[in-house]
Amino acid sequence: NKTMLMRSIVLLLLTFTAIRTSLSAISHIPSSLLELPLDGHFSFDELHHAAKDFGNQIQFLPSAILYPKCVSDIALTIEHIWQMGPPSDLKVVARGHGHSIQGQSQTHQGIVINMESLKSPAMNFHRGKSPYVDVRGGELWINILRESLKYGLAPKSWTDYLHLTVGGTLSNAGISGQAFRHGPQISNVHQLEVVTGKGEVVKCSENKNEDLFYSILGGLGQFGIITQARISLELAPDMVKWIRVLYSDFDTFTRDQERLISAEKTFDYIEGFVIKNRTGLLNNWRSSFSPQDPVQASQFKSDGKVLFCLEMAKYFKLRESDTVIEETEKLLSQLNYISSTLFISEVSYIEFLNRVHKSELNLRSMGLWDLPHPWLNLLIPRSKIHIFAEEVFGNILRDTNNGPILIYPVNKSKWDNRTSIVIPKEDVFYLVAFLSSAIPTSTGNDGLEYIISQNKKILDFCQRADLGVKQYLPHYTSQEDWKAHFGPQWESFVQRKSAYDPLAILAPGHRIFHKAV
Ligand code: FAD
Repeated sequence: NKTMLMRSIVLLLLTFTAIRTSLSAISHIPSSLLELPLDGHFSFDELHHAAKDFGNQIQFLPSAILYPKCVSDIALTIEHIWQMGPPSDLKVVARGHGHSIQGQSQTHQGIVINMESLKSPAMNFHRGKSPYVDVRGGELWINILRESLKYGLAPKSWTDYLHLTVGGTLSNAGISGQAFRHGPQISNVHQLEVVTGKGEVVKCSENKNEDLFYSILGGLGQFGIITQARISLELAPDMVKWIRVLYSDFDTFTRDQERLISAEKTFDYIEGFVIKNRTGLLNNWRSSFSPQDPVQASQFKSDGKVLFCLEMAKYFKLRESDTVIEETEKLLSQLNYISSTLFISEVSYIEFLNRVHKSELNLRSMGLWDLPHPWLNLLIPRSKIHIFAEEVFGNILRDTNNGPILIYPVNKSKWDNRTSIVIPKEDVFYLVAFLSSAIPTSTGNDGLEYIISQNKKILDFCQRADLGVKQYLPHYTSQEDWKAHFGPQWESFVQRKSAYDPLAILAPGHRIFHKAV
């Protein structure tokens, strides 16, 4: 009948389109590459998956996805492309969990390496006085946490969300509420195994191939692909006192935050966020507390005012249950929050660290996880945070509320200036993260265009007022802007590129280098 016929025609058309896409993709890949003796394989199916990321704004369709089984699959592939040399312009990018915002783990007509498919070697733990674990570059942090806990151990420095890969966060920095004490994740790595843009497999550390080691850390995937990392561990606590308190005065809020991050005896995790009165559904995605306690903090009625929430955690072993109450009370007694706004709960260590995943599941069930995410992350010098807050929270963002805004200080002394990341010059600087979600069909205050224009207003203000702000998870579209971002570090970034990836094969999605350097 007619419907059956129509269905068959549509099916045929779809098959034809799929075959055509695959064929045109294959045509960009030299046949010699497909003949390499790999344990893994190239795939031309489902390319659109690799043309998506968490940002949901940019799509570069690759020509192929490499599913490596071992490190030599990656090395052989890159070495082959390196040896082809110009005029071949084939690019390669490592894809961790694809949680970039602006296409950083994508490549137009190039090869995406699916890092999560690299299954060996297995995680290897070393106990003793200075414990560590060797993990694969494509390993998710949540898996490392689960495995480490079996040995009573855990990494020291985290991100707020753990379904990210080691290679993905080490290419940036990896910042969360532990960074004030331990530094970012890139300060907690002892050794890396890397495949460079020439296809060489190199082990590097602060004592061996030191320049490559520091290039890779915070290097935006520009100098090599991280296939293994040695992560520093500490004894894991059992439980966490998880606390939120509120402030109506920004100065008091930041004074307390800064006092806490500089004190010897202090909390183990220190963050903070901004609360606007109209708390929307999306604004709650980070709040997964049980009902009796701190979740209430973000729903506090503020009579139109902006409030600031200081978020802290104190880790403890079960046998320390009594002393931790005393210690926590003592620390809290030194703070100047609004006294009626103490929200406190007790959760397991894993529940605390994996807290955002709970919100993810919630948002997924409502279809709100895969929205466009025009995020903006800034590192702001301490001396400029008040000017910034006055203009941004008091003026630019007065009418909107599209997602959480995190704000917390970290100590620069815990960052290594030999790594590739660019940070502000002062001893203390703030991470301010505007984690917006956009409603795709909206042309209003919650639409993508509006949020992007708000982000631009914030960036323009920072530049006009000369605040010395640096973007974290930076995104620029011209080399001029990248040069300005790196400032005095630009020359050494270019030198590192010419040493480790001279044909600019790697990670083109950042749009830093378009051709050989
Ligand atoms: P991808 O998006 O796959 O890759 C990111 C970049 O790293 C690309 O350039 C890619 O080529 C490169 N890359 C990936 N793997 C490798 C490798 N093995 N070797 C070399 N280069 C590689 N960041 C924080 O610091 N703190 C947070 O608290 C935080 N919270 C977040 C919460 C959510 C919900 C999301 C979506 C992101 C968050 N981020 C946070 C940002 C996150 O750390 C980065 O976006 C990170 O790059 C994502 O990791 P990924 O594995 O998804 O990387």
